[in-house]
Amino acid sequence: MKVPFVDLHAQYVSIKPEVDAAIAAVIHESGFVRSRFVDEFEASWAQTLGVKHCVSCANGTDALYIAMRGLGLKPGDEVITTAHSWIATSETITQAGGKVVFCDTEEETFTIDPAQIAAKISPRTVGIIPVHLYGQSADMDAVMALARRNNLWVIEDCAQSHLATYKGQMLGTFGHAATFSFYPGKNLGAMGDAGCLVTNDSMLAEWCALFARHGGKGDHVMEGINSRLDGMQAAILSTKLPHLATWTVQRQDHAAEYGRGLATLPAVRRPVVRPDCSHVYHLYVIRTTRRDELKIHLQANNIATVLNYPRALPFYPAYRYLGHRPEEFPNAFQHQQEILSLPLYPEMRADALAYVIDSIREFFASPRV
Ligand SMILES: *Cc1c(COP(=O)(O)O)cnc(C)c1O
Repeated sequence: MKVPFVDLHAQYVSIKPEVDAAIAAVIHESGFVRSRFVDEFEASWAQTLGVKHCVSCANGTDALYIAMRGLGLKPGDEVITTAHSWIATSETITQAGGKVVFCDTEEETFTIDPAQIAAKISPRTVGIIPVHLYGQSADMDAVMALARRNNLWVIEDCAQSHLATYKGQMLGTFGHAATFSFYPGKNLGAMGDAGCLVTNDSMLAEWCALFARHGGKGDHVMEGINSRLDGMQAAILSTKLPHLATWTVQRQDHAAEYGRGLATLPAVRRPVVRPDCSHVYHLYVIRTTRRDELKIHLQANNIATVLNYPRALPFYPAYRYLGHRPEEFPNAFQHQQEILSLPLYPEMRADALAYVIDSIREFFASPRV
């Protein structure tokens, strides 16, 4: 048996007539840019989350950049974010003119550690970007309390956490703004790049929409950029959205199955779900000190695994100029050596799951070399 890391084709096949019809409709109406398809998706995504505004854009990275520009980031302003994320979270701080300030993560959840945020707040700090990594929330009570006390804005990076909740409240509704990616492999994925930001702040939404579209059409009230969701992607996303809740439950069911299958292996640490919160398992990430050997063993069994991510952000060449040392981010540094993302996608079959579990059990049953 061969188990891919994700299987986007399986999802397409499961809803092929709907997707094909949506694409045909866009072509029929030539609704390629700024069409009703975009308006419709923005409205339904805002409604799904229970927020006032959704401003679509080209991808989740642009969404972060646009949101920070909208919040008025100025040169020299410091933005605090997590050491453990995709580089889009931090590179956009720099692009928007700010200074990246990394924070270590919590030992169990891989999300930003509020105690560390408190230690990094300076007179120049203007905002915090928590990332709901792998599909579960950061400690939002603590993050929002710190933000209120220090008069900081919060942008939630929800690129991996579509429909996840924190104490019953939808992620993306806590911060001043939240950003989403609809990259094909994300929990809600387009067939190309796509993203958006959401907010309840009408002025912010209006500014961001203008900025993303050259500062306005016909009347350029300012210089902007060109970052748009195209009609085809919007129509595909609208077609997929009604299925998202079901796909999320399927992800959670598969994660539970992994959990049962791996529970008896003391050498494997399974994902820890924050109490009273939901995890939507964009990724199912285990920890083991024998990570590299296990990855090779699974590869030999035709099971694809991924490192999300091979290093914590402060340790990439891109951030060498900050001169960080491993001791400054002990959890993120430890995690980068132990994490392994297992195959997980809604359409994953029971036999594939069982095969992955068996292969992992087989690895730990064999004597250590
Ligand atoms: C995917 C991702 C992004 C960027 O989204 P793109 O649509 O690929 O630009 C940002 N942050 C995190 C945590 C992501 O996983």
